[in-house]
Amino acid sequence: MQSVKHIKEQLNHIRQEVEISAKNASRDPKDITLVAVSKTFPNEYIEIAYNDNQRVFGENKTQELSIKVPNLPNDIEWHMIGHLQSNKVKQAVELASYIHSVDSLKLLRRIDRIAGELNKKPKIFIEVNISGETSKFGTTKDEVTEMVKEAIHCENLELIGYMTMAPFGVDEEELRFVFSSLRKLRDEINNQLSIELKELSMGMSNDFKIAIEEGATFVRVGSSIFGKRSYQV
Ligand SMILES: *Cc1c(COP(=O)(O)O)cnc(C)c1O
Repeated sequence: MQSVKHIKEQLNHIRQEVEISAKNASRDPKDITLVAVSKTFPNEYIEIAYNDNQRVFGENKTQELSIKVPNLPNDIEWHMIGHLQSNKVKQAVELASYIHSVDSLKLLRRIDRIAGELNKKPKIFIEVNISGETSKFGTTKDEVTEMVKEAIHCENLELIGYMTMAPFGVDEEELRFVFSSLRKLRDEINNQLSIELKELSMGMSNDFKIAIEEGATFVRVGSSIFGKRSYQV
């Protein structure tokens, strides 16, 4: 399979592009974490990236995480990036140290409770639906502040920032609008609540360069590293 042979090369190409985009935006490349999104790809693919020093991987289903995690090196840092149903919270907290997709107060409270029971402390992002109707999941901008107020007092999780998904098939101007809106929202809430949340999880294969120019600190890149997925998820 062609993609296997090229994973290492593609990974290094993306790393270089992350660095170039950071420098273009006068940012320190060290402030940007590349999350290699391995959903649908087999462990062999993950191992190729691992052997090239990749330690941060993202998955969007707890079921898939539960199959992969026990069979891969235990110094991998797993990020749950997909929509999380309440009956999957236990699995997610057990398996992933980061959860990018916290999109309701109910889910936030459940993660906090279950993490307490499991003696874990996941790092979380609040998923924000900047573009309104175009995305299925995510908190609306108005609800975010309420969630942040509660999250910063949760004892069994650590709120580190915000995540968003840009709508598909929109032009560069719209992408910039979405990404810069998330950055501005972060800064506004930081001012309003006198806090210093820093992280912005935004940007995928098609738009991570723009996301970095607009302030992304985590980019979630899958197909540009591992190849085309044989099925969509
Ligand atoms: C699949 C996925 C990605 C990566 O998408 P690519 O286009 O393959 O880079 C990023 N974020 C989320 C939430 C995803 O589900």
